[in-house]
Amino acid sequence: MTNILEVKNLQVSFKTFFGEVEAVRGISFNVPSSQTVAIVGESGCGKSVTANSIMKLLPDPPAFYKGGEILFQGEDIIKKTDKEMRAIRGNDISMVFQDPMTSLNPTMKVGKQIMEGLLRHENISHDEAKKRAINILEMVSVPRASTRINQYPHEFSGGMRQRVMIAIAMIMKPKLLIADEPTTALDVTVQAQILELMKKLQNEFGMSIILITHDLGVVADMSNRVEVMYAGQIMEEGSTNEIFYNTKHPYTKKLLASLPKLEMDRNDKLHSIKGTPPDLYIPPKGCPFYERCDQAMRVCKDNVPPITEHDPGHLCRCWLYHEFGPEGGKNA
Ligand code: SF4
Repeated sequence: MTNILEVKNLQVSFKTFFGEVEAVRGISFNVPSSQTVAIVGESGCGKSVTANSIMKLLPDPPAFYKGGEILFQGEDIIKKTDKEMRAIRGNDISMVFQDPMTSLNPTMKVGKQIMEGLLRHENISHDEAKKRAINILEMVSVPRASTRINQYPHEFSGGMRQRVMIAIAMIMKPKLLIADEPTTALDVTVQAQILELMKKLQNEFGMSIILITHDLGVVADMSNRVEVMYAGQIMEEGSTNEIFYNTKHPYTKKLLASLPKLEMDRNDKLHSIKGTPPDLYIPPKGCPFYERCDQAMRVCKDNVPPITEHDPGHLCRCWLYHEFGPEGGKNA
């Protein structure tokens, strides 16, 4: 299987008045063609910074690439000029953001917003662009597309606005779609419809998806692989089945334990992960999860945890699985 995207040792920081914030600290992962890779973790773990780095959308300054590569179809995005990125964004790589109300232009009719990318990237007439905009709105199940194309975003419901965002992202049939919390602002029924829609479009267009979310239910439903991020690093990665049914990292275990269960009583308390993530102005020397981990050992505090492989492609960054650790030798 070929990879459409390869992220290698990516490091992204922000220069601030108080010092450097190391938001992404040496992450590596691949996105295979036509597959969905989910990036999960708590708020502030670096998921969205990763997504925006791939699109080269972070404001520079204060953000800057400290190291690594982002290879899209073999070419490093980091080295691309603004002009080259304008040709890639919305064409080869598209993004669906969390809140459609702040992402759509409230003063512009939705049809014009959908056609914008087409008219920029393709040499076609206004009438042809309009036809294709109506067509894509019908594909994302917006009723009366030829009428609604002339309406403004405030005339659409939250779910319908998210469909418009997906239509804008899909109109150029991108090879890679980055969906940053695409269903967070929606109720569960609409969320299910939007996820179904994304799956349908993925099958039709054969695109790859990077799904950024903190919702593990959405991950289980949508993704082939999962990257679990914490404090700017990937703590565990593997196929969705491995991450859910052969969980290794203490942080991933706690994330899964905090999911509500069907058999829960209304008096049962939801699990939460005690403590807060570390301050990335001064990242910890050893394991960033040390302060919150029930299984922490002395070695974890000041020494970077080793990466161990538990199944082909299932990697975990934790001292527990070192050959001399308590779980060492039980990796396979
Ligand atoms: Fe816990 Fe140590 Fe593993 Fe970190 S390296 S997750 S502190 S056991």
